[in-house]
Amino acid sequence: MEPDFSKNNGLLSVILQDTATKQVLMNGFMNEEAFEKTKADQVAWFYSRSKERLWKKGETSGNTQEVISMKLDCDQDALLLEVKPQGPTCHTGTKSCFGDDYFSLQALERTVQEKMQNPEEGSYTKYLIDKGTDKILKKCGEEMTEVIIAAKNKDKQELTDETSDLLYHLLVMLNNEGISLQDVENKLEERHGKKQEYSIRDEIQKW
Ligand code: AMP
Ligand code: ZN
Ligand code: ZN
Ligand code: ZN
Repeated sequence: MEPDFSKNNGLLSVILQDTATKQVLMNGFMNEEAFEKTKADQVAWFYSRSKERLWKKGETSGNTQEVISMKLDCDQDALLLEVKPQGPTCHTGTKSCFGDDYFSLQALERTVQEKMQNPEEGSYTKYLIDKGTDKILKKCGEEMTEVIIAAKNKDKQELTDETSDLLYHLLVMLNNEGISLQDVENKLEERHGKKQEYSIRDEIQKW
């Protein structure tokens, strides 16, 4: 399907979403040329209304946006891009133009991964990694047991707390084994028969 450039003075409204965490990152505008350049380069290009020129996101900051998928809205005048951001998206230095108070399991996973790569003294994740695989597995077992006990006891508060502990330790364990939440999500999607292989190359062929 083709975007409709006949509406908002030849501009598409473009929303960028982090493909891993689903955090909404920014809103911008593309004219037809920016749209074509985005498809060709597979990084986001915009049209700056204030500067009245094309602008490749990250051209000065280096914080480019690798495009993973593109979707038009119902009446083809807005575009949703799933992206892999290189660095903060907002020119003020935050990850998102809408602020960084965003939370999801995948955002937590990213924090865990960052702590694994750059261990901070005193961090519990660092402590677990230093102790090694057996310690991590033991904690997963303990937390699962605590979840079961809380469920048996019909204690909602306890069940919420213990499930939080379990999910965090599962994230550490999975990432320690080289598996991400995305891998798990892909498997679940596949099982539910809804798996769509998003590839910008396929999208481009459709257009
Ligand atoms: P960059 O594209 O990151 O190299 O930034 C270059 C310039 O583009 C900045 O100085 C801003 O004027 C503008 N800019 C960058 N990121 C954004 C954004 N998320 N929203 C609006 N303007 C931006
Ligand atoms: Zn629309
Ligand atoms: Zn911003
Ligand atoms: Zn616990």
